[in-house]
Amino acid sequence: MYRAPVEDIAFTLKHVAGLDDAIRAGKLGDLSEDLVDAILAEAGRFATEEVFPLRKAGDETGAVLKDAAVTMPPGWKDLYRRWIEGGWNALSGPPDFGGQGLPVMLAVAALEMWNSGSMAFGIGPTLTMGAVEALHRHASDDLKSVYLEKLVSGEWMGTMNLTEPQAGSDLAALKARAERAGDGTYRIFGQKIFITYGEHDFTDNIVHLVLARLPDAPAGTRGISLFLVPKFLVDADGSLGRRNDVFCSGLEHKLGIHASPTCTMIYGDGFAKDAEPGAVGWLVGEENKGLACMFTMMNNARLAVGMQGVAVAEAAYQKALAYAHERHQGRAADYAGEGMAPIVHHPDVRRNLLTMKALTEAARSIAYCCAHALDMAHAGEEARHWQERANLLTPVAKAFSTDVGVEVASLGVQVHGGMGFIEETGAAMLLRDARIAPIYEGTNGIQAIDLVTRKLPQSGGAHIAGYISELRQVAESVRQSNLASLGATADRLDRALDDLDEATGFLLAAQGDGRAEEALAGATPYLRLFALAAGGCYLARAALAEGGGGRTALCRFFAENLAGETSALKDRVVHGAASLAAASAALGA
Ligand SMILES: Cc1cc2nc3c(=O)[nH]c(=O)nc-3n(C[C@H](O)[C@H](O)[C@H](O)COP(=O)(O)OP(=O)(O)OC[C@H]3O[C@@H](n4cnc5c(N)ncnc54)[C@H](O)[C@@H]3O)c2cc1C
Repeated sequence: MYRAPVEDIAFTLKHVAGLDDAIRAGKLGDLSEDLVDAILAEAGRFATEEVFPLRKAGDETGAVLKDAAVTMPPGWKDLYRRWIEGGWNALSGPPDFGGQGLPVMLAVAALEMWNSGSMAFGIGPTLTMGAVEALHRHASDDLKSVYLEKLVSGEWMGTMNLTEPQAGSDLAALKARAERAGDGTYRIFGQKIFITYGEHDFTDNIVHLVLARLPDAPAGTRGISLFLVPKFLVDADGSLGRRNDVFCSGLEHKLGIHASPTCTMIYGDGFAKDAEPGAVGWLVGEENKGLACMFTMMNNARLAVGMQGVAVAEAAYQKALAYAHERHQGRAADYAGEGMAPIVHHPDVRRNLLTMKALTEAARSIAYCCAHALDMAHAGEEARHWQERANLLTPVAKAFSTDVGVEVASLGVQVHGGMGFIEETGAAMLLRDARIAPIYEGTNGIQAIDLVTRKLPQSGGAHIAGYISELRQVAESVRQSNLASLGATADRLDRALDDLDEATGFLLAAQGDGRAEEALAGATPYLRLFALAAGGCYLARAALAEGGGGRTALCRFFAENLAGETSALKDRVVHGAASLAAASAALGA
């Protein structure tokens, strides 16, 4: 059973991420707290009552390919229809194209709930929303007028086509080819792999955003252009015309998210029999500047994938907690009932459950704070500051949350004991689903490198320094609060922030001194150190807003049980590179 944690989500949005203050300061238009509550409640209802019940069928049946057409699992097409009719696809879409223009904070909160219901369902619309943002920012008015309204409503879905067999993390190796057709359009040729929702029966048309190279393009990432390639061409009156020369030649058999079709897409191979070979495409943005346009989509998608991590962690926690109350084994000192105690009475099981809850809440807070920064950047005042904050938090929100998704789903299996390994309980499915999120949308290793090499040096290191100072103020507020129920939280947060400070200084100095390899070696432990320090402070914000109770106890648990990991992580960042280099000979590289 999954029940959307609407109150927790609302509390974190309002009191940790700053939604309340933003509403009060009038930075979010006429959005009111009541409207926020109403939207979250209805999204929670939809995720709980409509998405979640179809998760198991999605996992068991999966998406099926036959004759280049993909059929979604039973009930899924209707689910999608009801979902777009509810206006959910348009939640944060641009109002000039039928969107509701609501803040990113609300969009990610809703996204969390769809993904807890089913990750395989949630990932599809994520790509459509990314496509909307990329087209809204970079496409010509003509393209916008044909495609945006339908993508915003969800009548058509979007995809993101980057990956090729030889070009994954390294897009410089991309080979898909684009030729100018002489009439302002282009013809696209090549193969893309692993394309999520590349083909399905949810919508009549699918709008692919495809990276390809023009014949005279410079080598590397500076020679990549972005094209819009629809499955069906659109006639002048807006109706669907002939089939374009693009098709799905294969579906991957995967560890998880079985209902999300992962497609091999073939462009320009003569699939459209009544036309010359070559998929008809339209340029988005300028020639050879496609990667920058695609980054609009990718940044959006990175936060969204981070939400998948939070979502799967939440679902795994709820399932494990319910099981821990049902399953009786052994005796427990604090169990007054007859016979064996429910396993939730055993300290080791409680530690697992509280670790799951605390990590989930920390990841949720970081992701929502990232969404808040994006909203503030759009609101205009201090736009540069907020954009830098969003830039800083995006790789952390993506990588930490998705690592937490796997960690928490794995703990969830553990809490179930042997039954966790048996598909019947659904705990194993969550772990299988969770495992993709640290890989796609840029692996977590690549996120850590992005954080260290591009985000820490923003404004010459001033932004990260300011961020750490803000976190220190939270620790200081904990100290000043004198809340006995927060135990040693202030001291533990101070220590975690000292570790973050030292590791940050080391990485910035290493890059400044030309010791790039040392910085790269420490990137992954640094990202986790960053997230634990920031997450601990965000839990403290929640505790201070609550002033004693469940959130306060959770914050103390995090500070006294989990935050101590930062010291070991700092050592790995500052002292780990030499031994890593020395031991590398063993790898034969
Ligand atoms: C289910 C699924 C859905 C997907 N959906 C889409 C989609 O919709 N659209 C799309 O375009 N792609 C999609 N992908 C592709 C996905 O984004 C890539 O798999 C991912 O970016 C990693 O690329 P790769 O698989 O080629 O791994 P590689 O790039 O070969 O990486 C292998 C390992 O090496 C590491 N590595 C690589 N380069 C470096 C480096 N410079 N420094 C340090 N470490 C490095 C990586 O972190 C990783 O651990 C999907 C993949 C899957 C499995």
